Amino acid sequence: MMMISRNRCVGCGMCASGCSVNAIYVDTEKGFAVFREDKCIDCCVCIQNCPQNAIKDVREELLFAIGTDDGKTIKQGDHFGMSKIFQIWRYSNGELIFKEERKNVKYQEDETRIHGDPNKAKATSSVLGGVDVLVGKMMGPNIVRLQKKFVPIIVRQSRINETLEILKENIIEIIEEKEKKERRGLILK
Ligand code: SF4
Repeated sequence: MMMISRNRCVGCGMCASGCSVNAIYVDTEKGFAVFREDKCIDCCVCIQNCPQNAIKDVREELLFAIGTDDGKTIKQGDHFGMSKIFQIWRYSNGELIFKEERKNVKYQEDETRIHGDPNKAKATSSVLGGVDVLVGKMMGPNIVRLQKKFVPIIVRQSRINETLEILKENIIEIIEEKEKKERRGLILK
């Protein structure tokens, strides 16, 4: 499925002018290109024409874990690993579909450690099998361990339903971060 990065698209229209089936246009109010999925024939000419590397044919499926206590808001006032539960969402074909909730393990961190307790990172990872991306408002010092296995994402929204939209809009950047050897936490606004 063709996706457009709103962080990269400058609205130049080179994708639209090269598209023979009129499957992409620039929304001048929003300022970025938009796909007409029903018209797209997957020829990928728009990808080649884009000077901003803003278009990607996304085929990947990803599992997201969102840290929360109440199932509606992102974990507040503490880092991802302190969430009571993790909501697991599957990304596929431009949509995020709820899969399941997983309870976090109860673990008392060793607060005397300066850079995070590695056993806490292991305990958190043990309930995140198959997950690709971690989503929270804050990450603790264990981010240096977790980012070897996962893409850590910080969001500024509090509501999970608003966060899902932000994740979908930034899927190109998330996939590219996952493919890097040296990952960094992404901050999405
Ligand atoms: S060519 Fe790229 S930067 Fe220009 S409007 Fe299309 S997607 Fe945006």
